[in-house]
Amino acid sequence: MEKVWLSSPHIGDKEKEYVNEAFHTNWVAPLGSNVNEFENQLTEYIGVEGAVSLSSGTAALHLALIALGVKEDDIVLCQSFTFAASAFPICYLKANPVFIDSEENTWNIDPELLEKSIKESISKGKKPSAIIIVHLYGMPAKMTELVKIAAQYDIPIIEDAAEALGSSYGNKKCGSFGKIGILSFNGNKIITTSGGGALLSDDENIIKKVRHLSAQSKETATYYLHKEVGYNYRMSNICAGIGRGQMEVLEKRIEKRRRNFEIYQSGLEGIKGIRFMNEPLNTFSNRWLTTIVFDEKVFGPAMNEQIRVELERHNIESRPVWKPLHQQPVFSNCKSYINGVSDKLFNSGLCLPSGSNIDDSKIGDILTIVKKSL
Ligand SMILES: *Cc1c(COP(=O)(O)O)cnc(C)c1O
Repeated sequence: MEKVWLSSPHIGDKEKEYVNEAFHTNWVAPLGSNVNEFENQLTEYIGVEGAVSLSSGTAALHLALIALGVKEDDIVLCQSFTFAASAFPICYLKANPVFIDSEENTWNIDPELLEKSIKESISKGKKPSAIIIVHLYGMPAKMTELVKIAAQYDIPIIEDAAEALGSSYGNKKCGSFGKIGILSFNGNKIITTSGGGALLSDDENIIKKVRHLSAQSKETATYYLHKEVGYNYRMSNICAGIGRGQMEVLEKRIEKRRRNFEIYQSGLEGIKGIRFMNEPLNTFSNRWLTTIVFDEKVFGPAMNEQIRVELERHNIESRPVWKPLHQQPVFSNCKSYINGVSDKLFNSGLCLPSGSNIDDSKIGDILTIVKKSL
């Protein structure tokens, strides 16, 4: 049987045309019309003043922290239930991540725990320098509460919207709430540039600063002049050509990912002990990955792993949900605020194949395998 991937690249009709244009005009370096157009598409789509296309989402987070002035020994609060790349850049700067657990509803950072951690940090004389909020699997976090807390204590939000391009909360797109937002165009994300990312902000100075840092902090002079440490983080005009084509099919990709979710949900409807992520009122998820939770009281422990192994036997890739960062060996010395929510989800959750290039009928086959194993 042909391999079914969890989430693989899905190229449209126009990407090659834009990439060819880069070749024909010899703009194959990290400058050119594809980069400019791609950045325009992003600002327009997300509804922000500025966007800088970069080599990865991780690079975008790194420059976000630098632009906000995060330095050695600072505290940066970060959602625990996420991919490690959300927090690695904190370590690049020798700052200290403090991990905050999730709430049940959206699986994202718990506003109450967040406030508790802020209060405790401040009482110890160390106000956190930034808060990294993630929209896990495309589900928007509780932004009303979170924005309010961040404003109250005057701490900037970095919105890690790597998984949430196209998701929205109220009438605003994810990535437009924070002082800075970041996106990823890695191969497994809802659209890809083969590898890439972007930094978003309404603050012109931040956009300028990040653009400067990403290009080796080279000053405008005929010789090579540098006044601060720089990074080589720009996106190439070839990759931006792929991104430009991908932006034209983004709405279709979201539609299909949402349909995947509907098919899984309706296919397993009525089975006791199975749960999906719910979309709260006034939110819209791109449904990047469909995740399923098996109640341990109904199925016993590790049903998620049993299903994963059974799917693998059929050459179908599924994955455990993110292992919370407070459980990761690399972060074992970091402080965390834990309520048990992400630990429980890690023990019972599974990400199902969710690519926009998976036939509806294939999802039917997956459902048959899942139901049989249950
Ligand atoms: C993918 C991802 C990143 C990192 O993006 P890259 O482009 O792979 O560097 C960061 N945060 C989250 C939540 C992600 O899913």
